[in-house]
Amino acid sequence: MNIDISMITKSINEELTQEAEITLDAFRSRLGNFPIISKAPVTLHIRNEENATVFIRGTVDIEVMIPCARCLEEVRTPIHFDIDKKLRIEEDGLVDDEMEQPDYLIGFELDVDKLVYAEILVNWPMRVLCKDDCKGICKVCGMNLNKGDCSCQRTELDPRMAAIQDIFNKFKEV
Ligand SMILES: [Zn+2]
Ligand SMILES: [Zn+2]
Repeated sequence: MNIDISMITKSINEELTQEAEITLDAFRSRLGNFPIISKAPVTLHIRNEENATVFIRGTVDIEVMIPCARCLEEVRTPIHFDIDKKLRIEEDGLVDDEMEQPDYLIGFELDVDKLVYAEILVNWPMRVLCKDDCKGICKVCGMNLNKGDCSCQRTELDPRMAAIQDIFNKFKEV
């Protein structure tokens, strides 16, 4: 959804509250495709300050399906963030000095989906787990160990011990 801000930039200290639909249905990135399964329209507060600056504020609440870092099971993950933009009013459009190439601005138009996309990227969770004590998957057969045990021989060693075992294995190969 695009919002035309040109009217606001023409009258000093004008304010506008506008509800904007997020039409983005997935977050597509280098890391993969993550379906956005719930989203509410964003209420954007847009304010022209002294015909020099436009402030855009709002809150975004979405839920994204992200695979668990250990067992790869999809986890319904809430992502919540505030939009807080300070844009400079220029003759031919708005300028975001904090972003190198803001593709969410086209002259005086604001592309809400692109803005939301850029903010999701910044607020992406570091590591998602289905539960704190997720047992992960068996490295031999790939079974999800939260759902039961397999009969594979697994030696879960800490990394230092694993390094020692590697050395032993090398000896055996010779
Ligand atoms: Zn898990
Ligand atoms: Zn197994």
